Amino acid sequence: MTETTESLETFRAEVRGWLEESFPASLRGRAGDVMASETIEAAESDALAWGRRLGEKGWATPTWPAEYGGGGLSQLQAQVVNQEIDRIGAFNPLIRTTGMGITMVGPTILEYGTEAQKQRHIPKICRGEVFWSLGYSEPNAGSDLASLSTKAVDAGDHWVVNGQKTWTSGADVSDWCGVLVRTDPDAPKRDGISFLMIDMHQPGIETRPIQLIGGASPFCETFFNDARAEKDEMLGELNAGWTVGKRLLQHERASQTGAVSGMGGGARTSLADLAKEYVGVDDRGRLSDADLRSRLTAQMMEAKAHGLTLARVAAEARGNAKVSAAASILKNAASRVAQNRAELALEILGHKGLGWEGDAFSAAELGAVREWLGGKAMSIYGGSFEIQNNIIAKNILGLPENTQRG
Ligand SMILES: Cc1cc2nc3c(=O)[nH]c(=O)nc-3n(C[C@H](O)[C@H](O)[C@H](O)COP(=O)(O)OP(=O)(O)OC[C@H]3O[C@@H](n4cnc5c(N)ncnc54)[C@H](O)[C@@H]3O)c2cc1C
Repeated sequence: MTETTESLETFRAEVRGWLEESFPASLRGRAGDVMASETIEAAESDALAWGRRLGEKGWATPTWPAEYGGGGLSQLQAQVVNQEIDRIGAFNPLIRTTGMGITMVGPTILEYGTEAQKQRHIPKICRGEVFWSLGYSEPNAGSDLASLSTKAVDAGDHWVVNGQKTWTSGADVSDWCGVLVRTDPDAPKRDGISFLMIDMHQPGIETRPIQLIGGASPFCETFFNDARAEKDEMLGELNAGWTVGKRLLQHERASQTGAVSGMGGGARTSLADLAKEYVGVDDRGRLSDADLRSRLTAQMMEAKAHGLTLARVAAEARGNAKVSAAASILKNAASRVAQNRAELALEILGHKGLGWEGDAFSAAELGAVREWLGGKAMSIYGGSFEIQNNIIAKNILGLPENTQRG
């Protein structure tokens, strides 16, 4: 579709009108706390109603095909929707309440799914009616994912699944899980894996939440004991799960390029303002600590450069939002920017950056500590920092295969 500036501006006016009518004023600027609700049920009623409206309009998944419940918009129109959502302090709660549905599973079903699978799963994701988790990692298969041993055996009209996954985010609240299973134990590691979509509401699955240092339990150990997966819930061909699973990981990385760990909560003050408040200014109004000033400047420049690179990548994609190995570069850059920011914030806060709870600390101070700790996970989940570097070396720089060949 060719889009003129004029047609986009007409569209912008339509979006603006719809948002003003549909987005509840009570939620304005409250993305942080509302998005902290882990499930659809836990969200407050205005957020629920807003999520439902956004889902029905198809704008929670603006570029997905309209025939499956998406917005059917071009990349440029979707950018307009997102800009207008930001402009009025709104947000997309379905990114959170569908688990991995919008960011990872949905795009992969759209690419590899059969027509029946698309019709069965995509509309529910678009409307925010279903929470998806992902069962990839196992106790003995993390970075070396191809060593996974959870197996699925053909039982005629269905698959029987046995094994253990770990670090499964949201498994205990999920309706469906995308699981990598071994379907051919005799084939070379990567050629004997399939991708199954498994209904989590069944007696053959047990989830045990893992408690984090911060008290929360965002992920689980997940046990499959003769769990059932339907024959028509295999995504992609039998034993082609490695390709499907890798593609999904590219979508995961692409969704993790924003340089925000999302684990701090609360409002984020700029580092410069924070430093002026906690460290103080000299008689010219500049941050009094010259060394900190130069490190802060470097961090802010890096964050700005990262933001501009993301904008350039989005602009270059114009109507063609394909993910690629370059997502690994952006994910690593995002992790570094977010982690440096959190380190600096803690340094600036001094002893106020040592609190975990209690009245002696403000919500922003406690949030900064959580962001610092939570941000460590950024360079682990979705494939660790070193694994992204391996991917960059092999798939972008064309260097020889690493030791993981299986
Ligand atoms: C917050 C969070 C949420 C997660 N959610 C999910 C989820 O929903 N579903 C899921 O399946 N998994 C999930 N994970 C698991 C995540 O994918 C793994 O933790 C990750 O892939 C690393 O695997 P591992 O923990 O086994 O570490 P290991 O693979 O044991 O790695 C340990 C260290 O060795 C390094 N290393 C390993 N191999 C190499 C190599 N070849 N070259 C160089 N360095 C190497 C790694 O970089 C790392 O520093 C989550 C993890 C976190 C932290």
